[in-house]
Amino acid sequence: MRATDIIARKRDGEELSTEEIRWFVAGYTDGSIPDYQAAAWLMAVYLRGMSRRETFDLTVAMAESGDQLDLSDAIPYAVDKHSTGGVGDKVTLVVLPLVAAAGVPVAKMSGRGLGFSGGTLDKLESIAGYRVQLSDEEFLRQVREIGIVLGGQTKSLAPADGQFYALRDVTATVSSLPLIASSIMGKKLAAGANAIVLDVKVGVGAFMHAVDEARDLAQIMVDIGVSAGRMMVALLSDMNQPLGDAVGNALEVREAIETLRGGGPADLRDHCLTIAAHMLRLGRQDSAPDAFDHARAELATLLDSGAGFDKLRALVQAQGGDVRMIDEPDRLPQARLIEAVPASRAGWVSQVHALHVAQATLELGAGREKKEDPIDPAVGVVTHVKVGDRIEAGAPAFTIHANDEGRLARARAELEAALSISSEEVPPLAPFYATIYGDD
Ligand code: URA
Repeated sequence: MRATDIIARKRDGEELSTEEIRWFVAGYTDGSIPDYQAAAWLMAVYLRGMSRRETFDLTVAMAESGDQLDLSDAIPYAVDKHSTGGVGDKVTLVVLPLVAAAGVPVAKMSGRGLGFSGGTLDKLESIAGYRVQLSDEEFLRQVREIGIVLGGQTKSLAPADGQFYALRDVTATVSSLPLIASSIMGKKLAAGANAIVLDVKVGVGAFMHAVDEARDLAQIMVDIGVSAGRMMVALLSDMNQPLGDAVGNALEVREAIETLRGGGPADLRDHCLTIAAHMLRLGRQDSAPDAFDHARAELATLLDSGAGFDKLRALVQAQGGDVRMIDEPDRLPQARLIEAVPASRAGWVSQVHALHVAQATLELGAGREKKEDPIDPAVGVVTHVKVGDRIEAGAPAFTIHANDEGRLARARAELEAALSISSEEVPPLAPFYATIYGDD
């Protein structure tokens, strides 16, 4: 086989065979196909697309490009979740301990934030001492012993995806449905779960801006999972405004703790209960018609009783984190400068623009533009309003947590652009747009 032939066939809109896709992915991963040919191929895929069969083959090639975790040695049935990335998305920090508290073991590998989208590992690292890099043995032992483990993806898991993703980032080929679907699902398949709940974000603070586009992505990923023998559910959820109130690493850990103690913002609690209920019913392989409602009610009691919180505590302890920061969140990193941004007039909130809020937190130093950028765990933004809320002139719309005056001023300007106020009443945004099932 020759790389140029495969590039040319895709350039001309032809369908590649399973062998061609496998050969190309293997060749790029082992270095025998150079970046310039992989870049040309990515652009051809971006422009011509891929059939479902090609997308599935690409996903499997990604999953098989490195080690594949076998969780069956540690737990009989594994359930995982994945969010396509958003602003203020601390759902994993709540949902994992909650599902584990209900008796379904969870073993998850999470990623770091990049650009506007936050990452669970960065949030966890605001807890002093928390170790995100575990060996496969440690990972499996911990889930066997305490029913929960939450670490970083090892380098040997789907290494082809890491290489392709870096190349996509610099060749304007990120936003392609087959490339996104195979990137996400390749990692998920390699991570060994039997059932997967996907939280596909849609809106101005997400990869996908339109519901129809997000629905297509979700359907492709569900189909890939089902073809690979996994139980799947995908939810399309709103990412036009931040999820919950806090955006920024330690601030989000604090909010996750409040939620696990039965409090926290109503939208975050509701979102977490929905995701967790799907995980629980899949994890229990419960196909009764009322399985979701029962799971949701049970999980709500585990939030209110503090059982989910106890599991978070056990997780942090097992991974070397300072549990005093969980017990007393005031011990988490705190910013030096705390300032409110007031509403300029009274009315109904018509927009809390998630991307502007994310850009404000990036200005403050909470995220990274490039992979190697350092982050400040203490800084971020707390939002005080949701779309549809009434606000009075001068009332605080946001609170900025900053460690630098110049950055604070730039974040303030972003936040002023984030808030729109209408003189007419505005309906609240729907939290979810659709659920796609692949688990019959
Ligand atoms: N997240 C991923 O892991 N891959 C993509 O391509 C996009 C989002």
